[in-house]
Amino acid sequence: LADNEVLVAVTIDVDADSILAGQGARLSSLSRTSEAQFGVRRGLGRLTRILSEREIPATFFVPGFVADEYRSALGDIADGGHEIGHHGYFHKDCSALPIEEQRVEFEKGMEALARTFSVYPSGYRAPFFELTPATLECMTNAGLEYDSSCMGDEEPYFEGANGLSILELPVHWILDDGVYYAWNSYGSGVRGSAALWDAWLGEYQAVRTEGGFINLVLHPQWSGRRQASATLSRLLDHLYAADNVRFMTLHNVAAQFRLSADHRQLLATVTEE
Ligand SMILES: [Zn+2]
Repeated sequence: LADNEVLVAVTIDVDADSILAGQGARLSSLSRTSEAQFGVRRGLGRLTRILSEREIPATFFVPGFVADEYRSALGDIADGGHEIGHHGYFHKDCSALPIEEQRVEFEKGMEALARTFSVYPSGYRAPFFELTPATLECMTNAGLEYDSSCMGDEEPYFEGANGLSILELPVHWILDDGVYYAWNSYGSGVRGSAALWDAWLGEYQAVRTEGGFINLVLHPQWSGRRQASATLSRLLDHLYAADNVRFMTLHNVAAQFRLSADHRQLLATVTEE
């Protein structure tokens, strides 16, 4: 990446109630289902407004079930010049599925994005950040350009298994809003927006002199709530005001990285292996 430049990707995983739907459990708890549906009912609109007010392009990872079920609520994404990425169909944890079912999740997800958005995605994010070799194989067979689920570096790198590899635009739990706002999902309880502010601003402060990549992971059912979205707005304003920050979709981060010397060096290493 260019000297001193900080590339910030705002990525939004529009999970809604895909997990509960995949378990056939949407009606087992109206409370849990309603919290998940808040994402498409209220949170998504707030987040897209925050982005469009600042002309920040984002990457939305949409499970196929959500693309099929909430077509009309997703209009803003497709119209806003944002990127749409692959996020499974029922948001299943592929590390717990037989290989054949992992392939079905992948294929059904691709088909739903084509149906709803007429999109062939360039990137994938594994539900629960649980990437498996079988899904990696699906991705490379489909010709996807990047994955954004693994944590092996802070800057883009190549993730691989069984002789296959893909450009990885890495994530980390500390930059995932679920860690601060999700009740019980990750066993962390609710830490709140002050903790998120400290960690996310801290990430920028740690990287700003050298430059680097920051991959923010948001969920409309959490970051789209009032207090959280206010904190997000403040944070984006702070980053926007910095002269070395550029907001980019992951697709464009991948494109930019491909032009860099770091990429040539990494490619040479991968080819040698
Ligand atoms: Zn997700």
